[in-house]
Amino acid sequence: MNKTVRNTKPTHKRKKLGELLIEAGLIDERTLSKALDIQKIENKKLGQILIDMGVADEQVIANTLASQLNIPLLKLDEIDAPKETISLVPAEMAENYLLVPVERTDKGLTVAMANPLEFYAVDDLRFVTQMPIHVAVASESDVLEAIERYYPKRGLERDLGSAPGPEQGIEIVQRREMEEQDLKNQKELLAFAERPPVVRLTAALLGDAITVKASDIHIEPQRSTVIIRYRVDGIMREIMKVDRSVHASLVSRIKVISNMDISIRRKPQDGKTQVRYGGKEYDLRVSTIPTSYGEKVTMRILNPDSAKTGIEDLGLSKRASGDLIDAISMPQGIVLVTGPTGSGKSSTLYACLNRLKSPEVNIITVEDPIEFDIEGVNQVQINPQAGITFSAGLRSILRQDPDIVMVGEIRDTETASIACQAAQTGHLVLSTLHTNDALSALTRLLDLGIEAFLISASLQAVVGQRLVRTVCEECKIPEPLSAQILKRLPPRIREDKEAIFWKGIGCEACRYTGYSGRLGIFEVLKITPSLREIIGSDASAANLKRLAEKDGFQTMAMDGLDKALKGLTTIEEIFRVAPPDAEDIFEEPVTETSGSEEIRIEETPSEEPSPALSSIKPKKILVADDNQIILKLVRHILESDGHLVISAEDGLKALRLAMQEKPDLIVTDYLMPKMDGIELTKKLKAQLGSRYIPIIMLTAKEDEGFQNKGMKTGVDDYMTKPLNAREFLAKANRLMSRSVS
Ligand SMILES: [Zn+2]
Repeated sequence: MNKTVRNTKPTHKRKKLGELLIEAGLIDERTLSKALDIQKIENKKLGQILIDMGVADEQVIANTLASQLNIPLLKLDEIDAPKETISLVPAEMAENYLLVPVERTDKGLTVAMANPLEFYAVDDLRFVTQMPIHVAVASESDVLEAIERYYPKRGLERDLGSAPGPEQGIEIVQRREMEEQDLKNQKELLAFAERPPVVRLTAALLGDAITVKASDIHIEPQRSTVIIRYRVDGIMREIMKVDRSVHASLVSRIKVISNMDISIRRKPQDGKTQVRYGGKEYDLRVSTIPTSYGEKVTMRILNPDSAKTGIEDLGLSKRASGDLIDAISMPQGIVLVTGPTGSGKSSTLYACLNRLKSPEVNIITVEDPIEFDIEGVNQVQINPQAGITFSAGLRSILRQDPDIVMVGEIRDTETASIACQAAQTGHLVLSTLHTNDALSALTRLLDLGIEAFLISASLQAVVGQRLVRTVCEECKIPEPLSAQILKRLPPRIREDKEAIFWKGIGCEACRYTGYSGRLGIFEVLKITPSLREIIGSDASAANLKRLAEKDGFQTMAMDGLDKALKGLTTIEEIFRVAPPDAEDIFEEPVTETSGSEEIRIEETPSEEPSPALSSIKPKKILVADDNQIILKLVRHILESDGHLVISAEDGLKALRLAMQEKPDLIVTDYLMPKMDGIELTKKLKAQLGSRYIPIIMLTAKEDEGFQNKGMKTGVDDYMTKPLNAREFLAKANRLMSRSVS
């Protein structure tokens, strides 16, 4: 920069733009009062009104301001301010006050302002930068253009941060050649879908979801935001909220990559695509459904490894796996897998098919949907519109001379009876039934109208199963059992002094959930000759169970407890998913069993509170400091302002609490045991789920170099000790009111 800039501070007279323009002879009093009248109605800046009235253009106004205030006029497109200088002024400030920093010397910071008469702006700048401010003027469009150039990451981009995220490495494998459609709307949406921030957000979501092994991504529009949630290990987890304005372009982007029609927004659609990430290709099944706030999108991520699952990978006990293998080795008969949606039934069926397939056998399936392609197996997708239902499909594939048939699900009498007939005529039939456990399959078949003797003759085995979350190996610790829990355990465990259960306390590897991955718990009901006999004579469920147990049958609750004892899962998980039957505990039936039939814990997205309510809702703030006095002080300041405070004495605990509690704000010390504030910030900003929590760092003294380092890692603001309570509260409340968009 060639121009020398004088410090204008002493000459700042609080004049207004109108006066300056009159002094410069540019407008007269009448024009000014007319413009001021318009301002009362239109609530625009005076300069803009004068431009609209045609009495001045912005260049003239800038010139006048420069000469009247005796400050330099800068042409910003000729200046290239260094990054370090730009980083001194936060983007929000530049946008709000229409200014850009241009030069920093040891005498202070020079900023170009569209309206140098904004004295508050100068005060604020001085406060934020702690430097003398020299003001220059530039035309408004020049300033806007420079903000665009110097702060490119605005809105969504800014939220994504500049740190490398999971979006790197996502590659869309399939992409439809867009047909030439002359719908203008279509084109606009398409352009929308290609906006770089949206492309980046979509890639970031996919990469992040695959990294945390999510099975589904849900994009749920609300009144004013869009909630993005993942299902990880069967549990829904909120990941982030984005502004409502992003919704249309995000949905369009997803439709584009999934070969869906972006112009259809009021009807449900299905699509699919493939992405490559970390050297693996993942199939994505995408569906959209219109809701009152717009389209909800669900993306299912299919892990390619699941297609290769073998029976030995399922986690069956030795005995159960032997029983299952015996059953599917029979030349004819039915093998059923039961459980609610999401209990892993199809993985078990695919594992059976993987074991059975060989060049010598003809295997045909009828599925809805075909989740994985299995080489050497003929797979048929049901299509009711084309007349291919489970029953019709099964009927026609039986004409294809198969040895083994897999039917996705038996839901009606017709399918059930064809399956039984096939099982009587030299075919092995594999299928699923939507029942709670293996024994209920027998009652279900009877309810469907299948005769008891036919069931008795056809059935080889019934598998019942659930999926439970696996304890994180990195952070698991033994868990002492409360009397409450002991009361709900069968005697063999209750009385075993050696019995130990485990739990995960939460660490980086498991994203602070204490769990990582899932595992099946099973019961395999092998139809033994004695069972066959009693089924044929209409036995009661209790009778069947007693007899099965005599033949070695173990319920999935018992299998689960064994797995919990081995430290594979937790006792809570077993009680949640498959609590032991009361009669297996031999005590007063426990009434408050927490286990649910359904494996999915689906907290329905809560209706957002009205803005008025949310502003008075107390915020949750995490304070991390190893100094008890500071901790108490900060807690006192925040609580007296009506906030909720949780605290940590070291960085590691702070990280864990931040991930588990998702606070609205984090106040952290710089120097802490186990992990310092910068490292903590880095870790929090590196994950989508915590990237949006604002962070205030407490430092002992003002240290610019250090503050810059912190700003680069994503610290949102600083406070130096000793704390000024008012200033601290102002900063905290400002950061918490910042909307995530
Ligand atoms: Zn862990």
